[in-house]
Amino acid sequence: MGRQLAIESGLAADIVISVPDSGTTAAHGFSAQSGIPFAEGLMKNRYIGRTFIQPEQKKRDAGVRIKLNAVRSAVAGKSIIMVDDSIVRGTTSGRIVKMLREAGAKKIHMCVSSPPIIYPCYYGIDTSVRKELVASSKTIDQIRRYIGADSLHYLSLEGLRQCVANVHLDGLCYACFNGDYPTAIPCQGETPGSKFVFEENSCGSLQKGQEKPRGRKRS
Ligand code: SF4
Repeated sequence: MGRQLAIESGLAADIVISVPDSGTTAAHGFSAQSGIPFAEGLMKNRYIGRTFIQPEQKKRDAGVRIKLNAVRSAVAGKSIIMVDDSIVRGTTSGRIVKMLREAGAKKIHMCVSSPPIIYPCYYGIDTSVRKELVASSKTIDQIRRYIGADSLHYLSLEGLRQCVANVHLDGLCYACFNGDYPTAIPCQGETPGSKFVFEENSCGSLQKGQEKPRGRKRS
C-alpha cells in the first residue's frame, strides 16, 4: 500500500517518515518505491496506549502530547513525506504536523495508506461515530487545511483493491470507505452512526425483509 501510494501521489521530498507504529510498514514501502530515504522523524513512547481509543477528547489530546516527539535533527530544514495508515478525526494528525513544524520541518506532505474513512465500523474497529469522522463532512483540501499540512494524499480505493488482489476471500469489507456493509447493520435507522449497536442491541436487529438504509448486500 505504501508502494502504491508513492506511485499515485508522485511526490518528491527529502525524507519519508512514519507515524509510529501505524504508518511504519507503509512508510517503508513508500520509501522503497520512491527511492526517498526513510528517517526516524518521530519517536514514540511505547508505554502510552493508542490515543484514538480514549473515549474523551481531553484524554486523547493529552495522549498525543506525551506519546510522540519529533526528532529535530532528522526533520529540521527538510521537506517531509509523513505516512500514516488512516485519518480518523484528524486531531492527532494535526497535532503531529504542528509538532514537526515546531521542530523545523520545511514542508510536510501527509500521505495516508488507506482511502478516506467516511463511514463508521460496526465490526470491532473503534473509528467512532460518523459525525466525528473528519472525512465524512470535509473535502480532502479542507482536511489538509484542518491538519495544517502542505499537501494531503490518500490511497485510492481502486489502488487498495489492487494491493489485496491476491487475498482470495469472498466479500472483503471496504465499508468504512464506501458504506457498502457486508452485513445488515442492526438499529442503523433508529440510531444512525452509533458504533455501539451490536453491544447495546437495545432496539433490536433489522427484521427479515427490512431494507438496510445504507450499503448493499454483497453477492
Ligand atoms: S474495512 Fe470493514 S471491518 Fe475493516 S475497519 Fe472498515 S468497516 Fe470495519
